[in-house]
Amino acid sequence: MKNYNVMYILEIYHIYKGMNCQEKCEFYQYKCDYYQFFVKLILILASLASLSYLVSDYQLNGNTILPTLIPRTSILIPMFLYIVLEPKLKSYKWKTFLNYLLLNMIVLATIWSVYHLEIKTHFSEGATIMNFIFLICCLSARPCFGAMGYGLFFAEILVSHQFNHYENLDVILSLNVPCFAAIMLVHCILNLGEFERYLTSKKLEHALITDPLTTVYNRHRMNQLIKDNQIISEEEMISIIMLDIDYFKMVNDTYGHYVGDEVLHYLGRTLMKEIPESGTVIRFGGEEFLIIMLGCPPEDAYKKIEEIRKKIAAAKDTSVEFHISAGVVKYNGDFVKSVKAADHALYHAKETGRNRVYWNREF
Ligand code: GH3
Ligand code: MG
Ligand code: MG
Repeated sequence: MKNYNVMYILEIYHIYKGMNCQEKCEFYQYKCDYYQFFVKLILILASLASLSYLVSDYQLNGNTILPTLIPRTSILIPMFLYIVLEPKLKSYKWKTFLNYLLLNMIVLATIWSVYHLEIKTHFSEGATIMNFIFLICCLSARPCFGAMGYGLFFAEILVSHQFNHYENLDVILSLNVPCFAAIMLVHCILNLGEFERYLTSKKLEHALITDPLTTVYNRHRMNQLIKDNQIISEEEMISIIMLDIDYFKMVNDTYGHYVGDEVLHYLGRTLMKEIPESGTVIRFGGEEFLIIMLGCPPEDAYKKIEEIRKKIAAAKDTSVEFHISAGVVKYNGDFVKSVKAADHALYHAKETGRNRVYWNREF
């Protein structure tokens, strides 16, 4: 259980501040994807609920709903447009824009209705209630966008005062300005809470696809790549490599499992360092590694793996001297067949002496 205190919140804030623009956008997209459905539902309900003010209009206007019928029902047009447009937009920026647009439309429909009311002083209560919905909108929004969308609310009150002539504008402002300050503060605090949840989910996601001993990916990552169709070869070349430590059982038997683990860790770190970022290193089995190199022809992959093989065989900073063998093939569009072919190439390398890389050009 985490111990939440001011120091911890400050720590989270520093991590947030240290992120670059793209990382922040990723976080806000994550936050929006999570909350947007609930915010959307509440905004639609709020639009429909604003129609219920026809009852108080009826009471204030001397038992008639006619003067405010059109202003109140006008919210249905932006609401339907919102329902149609919102699912088509994926970016959190557009979704937030639409949320605040609909919310400000509710405010404008209310102001228009107040124009047709004989007694306008109750707008102060109506406007204060609006703050609840601005609070809900915070859930999926970035605080600076929230401040802009919310700021418009005050502009609308001040502009509408020119023709609605609120007798109690001072009360409307004295009720709503503190609400604005409090809700923006809550927005920033909730945002940090959400950011902490985001960091935890990122860590879990990373732990799920990473092998703790070798620090390379595990088979979950491989399954993800296959499922998300990320291994596609159109114009680009893809190389598949199967790599294995030679006589590793002997390392374990002679020096013990702890030294064996150190060797595995060393190899994992070396592969992570040497394989370019477009490549993916996966611990395929005990001491077997699968490497998928995107945008890399097999001749380049062969050269790279040969370079790594030589470095490892000559390394002086390992717990014990060891060497590796590898099989290289060009990806042929069928992942399972390509992996099998790389495995056969690896066995060929083993059979022909070990400590070597074999590239099967026929595959
Ligand atoms: P070859 O050159 O043919 O590849 O022979 P080998 O001894 O490397 O291959 P073999 O398949 O006979 O042995 C692999 C060994 O790897 C057996 C297993 O105990 C060891 N191993 C698998 N996972 C781990 C691990 O996480 N840590 C350690 N220390 N050893 C492991
Ligand atoms: Mg081996
Ligand atoms: Mg093996």
